[in-house]
Amino acid sequence: METVKPYTGYGKKENLQFESKAVHGALGYEPSTGSVSFPIYQTSTFRHKELGVSTGFDYSRLQNPTRQELERTIAILENGLEGFALSSGQAANLSIFTWLNPGDHVLISNDIYGGTFRIAEDIFVKYGVAFTYVEMSDLNAVKAAVTSQTRMFFIETPTNPLMKVADIAAISGYAKSIGVITVVDNTFLTPYFQKPLDLGADVVVHSGTKYLGGHNDTMAGLVVVKSQEMADHMRLQLKTQGNGLAALDSWLILRGLKTLHLRMERHNQNAYKTAHWLRKHPLVKKVYYVGFENHPGYEITKKQTAGFGGMISFTVNSEDTVKRILKNVDMIMFAESLGGTETLITYPTTQTHESIPEDIKQKLGITREFLRMSVGLEHADDIIRDLNRAMDGREL
Ligand SMILES: *Cc1c(COP(=O)(O)O)cnc(C)c1O
Repeated sequence: METVKPYTGYGKKENLQFESKAVHGALGYEPSTGSVSFPIYQTSTFRHKELGVSTGFDYSRLQNPTRQELERTIAILENGLEGFALSSGQAANLSIFTWLNPGDHVLISNDIYGGTFRIAEDIFVKYGVAFTYVEMSDLNAVKAAVTSQTRMFFIETPTNPLMKVADIAAISGYAKSIGVITVVDNTFLTPYFQKPLDLGADVVVHSGTKYLGGHNDTMAGLVVVKSQEMADHMRLQLKTQGNGLAALDSWLILRGLKTLHLRMERHNQNAYKTAHWLRKHPLVKKVYYVGFENHPGYEITKKQTAGFGGMISFTVNSEDTVKRILKNVDMIMFAESLGGTETLITYPTTQTHESIPEDIKQKLGITREFLRMSVGLEHADDIIRDLNRAMDGREL
C-alpha cells in the first residue's frame, strides 16, 4: 500500500480559497490512520517515551491535538499568526484584557455586548484599568477620547445590538500611529465576511458559540493574533487560567467551520429579505440593518465586508407589541444567543444588555420596544410569516 504523505500542516494550504480552507482546516485529517474526520482526543495527559522526549503534547490544559487543529484553522481563516480556542467568548475577551496593566486606559464601543461591559466594569476597573465608551463609528470621537494612558481600542462592528459600523482600517491605522493596539470582536460577520487583521487590527476575538459553531449546540471563544508577543501572552493565559476549549467542543466548532461559507451566504440572504419586509410593517418603527443603503455605515460596510450578515434589530410601536411577539412566535424561538441554524429573537434590554445602566441604554436606543433577531437558515418565507402572525395575529 502506498503511504500517504501527510500535510505537515499549517500554512501548506495557503493557496486555497476561503471555502476550501474552511473545509480542510489545518491538518484536515489524521495522518496516521487517514481518519477524514479529525479525531476528538479525549485525554487529559500524554505519555512520554523517556526523559526529555515529548510528542509536543504533555497535558490537555496546555495543548490538545483537537484544540490545536481548531486553533490553527481559525488562524488560517482570519489570516493571523496564531489562534487560541477558549471555553467561551467571555473567556476569550477576558484573556485579551489581561494584556492590560494598572493605569492603562481602553476605548470600547459604546453599545458593546453586555458581557464585555461586565468584564471591564466588574473585573478590570478593580485592578486599576480605566474604560471610556465611545461612538466608534466616529473617528473624531475616538481621537477626542484618547489619553496618554490609552493602550487598547476594543471594537465591535457591526455592534451588538445597534448595528453601528466602525471603520476598522481608519481606527487601527490611527491606533498604530499612537502605539495603541486594536482588538475587533468579529462575532457578527465571521472571517467569511470580514477580516479585521487584513484591515490593520492586531487581534480578533469571537464568540465561537455563534456563527463559527453555528448550530446552537456548544460554547466557545476564539482569539487570533498577529504578533508573537500577543501569541505568547495568550498561550500563558490558557495554560494558567485553564480556560482552553475541551476536545469535544473543539471538534464541534471544527465541524461547524466546514459549512461556515454556505451558512453565512444563507443567513445573509434570509436577513436581507426579512429586514426589507420588516421595514414596511406598520407596527415597526425602525429597523437596524447594515444592508440598507441609508444605513449610516453602508459605505464603510461595502468597503470592509463581503456581506451584511444575519443580524437585524428593530423597534416596534409599543411594549405590548414586544410582549405579543415574544409570546406568539412559533417556529422562531424567543431565546438568547445568535448565529445558529434556528432563528432566535432576543430582548436585549433584559437579556444580552441587562448589565448596561438604564440611562445609557435609553440614550443608545436599547429601549423596551427594541428587539434583536438572529435570522436562521429556515426558508425566509416561513420566518416572515411567523413574525407577521406573531405581530398582529394575521396570516400572510
Ligand atoms: C455572545 C457574544 C459574546 C460572548 O460570548 P459567549 O460565547 O457567550 O461567552 C461576546 N461578543 C459578542 C458580540 C457576542 O455576541
